[in-house]
Amino acid sequence: MTVIGGGFAGLSAASFLAKAGHKVSLFEKNSTLGGRARTFSAQGFLFDMGPSWYWMPDVFEHFFAAFDKHPSQYYHLVQLDPGFQVIFGNDDVLSIPASLDELYAEFERIEPGSAPKLKKFLADAAYKYRVGMNSMVYKPAFSWLEFVNMEVMAGAARLQMFTPVSKYVRSIFKDPRLVALMEFPVLFLGAMASQVPALYTMMNYSALSQGTWYPMGGMGEIISAMEQLAVSLGVEIHTGCEISSLALNGNSVQGLTVGDETVATNGIVATGDYHHIERALLPASFRNYDESYWQGRTFAPSALIFYLGVNKKLARLKHHNLFFDASLDEHARQIYEKPQWPSEPLFYVCCPSKTDPSVAPEGSENIFMLMPLAPGLTDEPATREVYYEMLMRRMESYCGEPIAPHVSYKRSYCISDFVADYHAYKGNAYGLANTLRQTAVLKPTLRNKKIRNLFYAGQLTVPGPGVPPALISGRIAAEQLLKRINKSAHETIV
Ligand SMILES: Cc1cc2nc3c(=O)[nH]c(=O)nc-3n(C[C@H](O)[C@H](O)[C@H](O)COP(=O)(O)OP(=O)(O)OC[C@H]3O[C@@H](n4cnc5c(N)ncnc54)[C@H](O)[C@@H]3O)c2cc1C
Repeated sequence: MTVIGGGFAGLSAASFLAKAGHKVSLFEKNSTLGGRARTFSAQGFLFDMGPSWYWMPDVFEHFFAAFDKHPSQYYHLVQLDPGFQVIFGNDDVLSIPASLDELYAEFERIEPGSAPKLKKFLADAAYKYRVGMNSMVYKPAFSWLEFVNMEVMAGAARLQMFTPVSKYVRSIFKDPRLVALMEFPVLFLGAMASQVPALYTMMNYSALSQGTWYPMGGMGEIISAMEQLAVSLGVEIHTGCEISSLALNGNSVQGLTVGDETVATNGIVATGDYHHIERALLPASFRNYDESYWQGRTFAPSALIFYLGVNKKLARLKHHNLFFDASLDEHARQIYEKPQWPSEPLFYVCCPSKTDPSVAPEGSENIFMLMPLAPGLTDEPATREVYYEMLMRRMESYCGEPIAPHVSYKRSYCISDFVADYHAYKGNAYGLANTLRQTAVLKPTLRNKKIRNLFYAGQLTVPGPGVPPALISGRIAAEQLLKRINKSAHETIV
């Protein structure tokens, strides 16, 4: 069996297929594994290229437990305290403590009477998380009937599948800072809080109750762990190998083209970007979706990223820093409604050297600056520089000290890099937005409807964008392919 793509979804799928006793080969076009979670080193700095927030630790445990393993056998997790800070102005900063009691006190300080409301909100979010994990997220989403069970039916009202997050949050909290904080976790789903069902406030449970974690050595440690696991199960990994087409025989795929070679296969989980796999590897008549379908989807944002090495310490930064010192609504409008380079963007700064001395030379900081951006915009070096200056000025203003003259290493990454490195449709960073109209059965389906042994996985299909969903997606796709292959074998024998 074959897996296309060596990110979280591909490594997950490969391990599940190998565990079932199959000989598995994984092909990754880039020279290193990890996909959007690759790493690179330069001048003594080790940069995680994509994900930096480790939320939903139970999903990672659940993944490794399927192989009788635990994350602690591979990497050392630490809980961040504060989990993150939200910067509303140079002297207006909300720090999110690891302790819930401290968080309740902080809410009470900002909005008297809000602590008991937060308790109730988090109890409801915990309920949504539990039902979501037990009864929804691990489903292939081929039919709504999969979600019909006692737990979901009995709790339908409390799950809030049709109330937008923003309406729900704003009915409870009034202070704009608390509203922004409570709406922030769903931005990970690539959509605005006004477009996402309040069911997804399960993310708040993860952010505020489970806490924000960090694997020492960086997020790349998780990829290394998954690589070790896959290899131990017998998966053959081929990096620097792009698949350029699939060989079909009737309604089956029986081979893949890698360079000049055709490699035989009896089944594929394809985890490269869905649109690329369909358009570049399959004839039009075998694709699930045409171009107009993709044009009609709401994509999660792309991003402009700067990886910076700074040769001094920056006292005011924490590990995770959200610069919410501009209008979220206006920035969102410039991503989703009138796509354009933003006039006054929000942005995020990760400084993992606050926690982990191994990612920067002594006395230096490892900085990752990210600005969300509409996919498909024209991406030119001069434009990137305009935003570098803008974000740098705001970071310097908050830190109260010059930073630009101390930047000893700088690399930018944006839309055209996502296209070149991952064949990302319009250079998207996070896949499809998890809006109500693009949830579960309404997402691009896991299975190719015309080719019996081709399944898709990853952030463009179910359950959605993010590292934990990618792990789950790989697993579900592998299980569905195994089911299909076993069924065909049974039919042949009978
Ligand atoms: C900047 C950024 C920040 C993020 N931050 C977070 C975060 O903090 N927390 C979080 O949980 N999530 C975060 N995410 C999202 C998360 O990283 C992704 O959802 C997840 O890594 C996607 O994994 P995947 O396996 O679905 O896709 P990918 O990682 O894209 O893997 C697909 C792989 O397929 C390969 N491929 C494509 N076509 C071919 C081909 N023809 N032949 C061979 N190989 C091919 C690609 O090269 C790629 O390696 C972030 C993403 C980005 C980009």
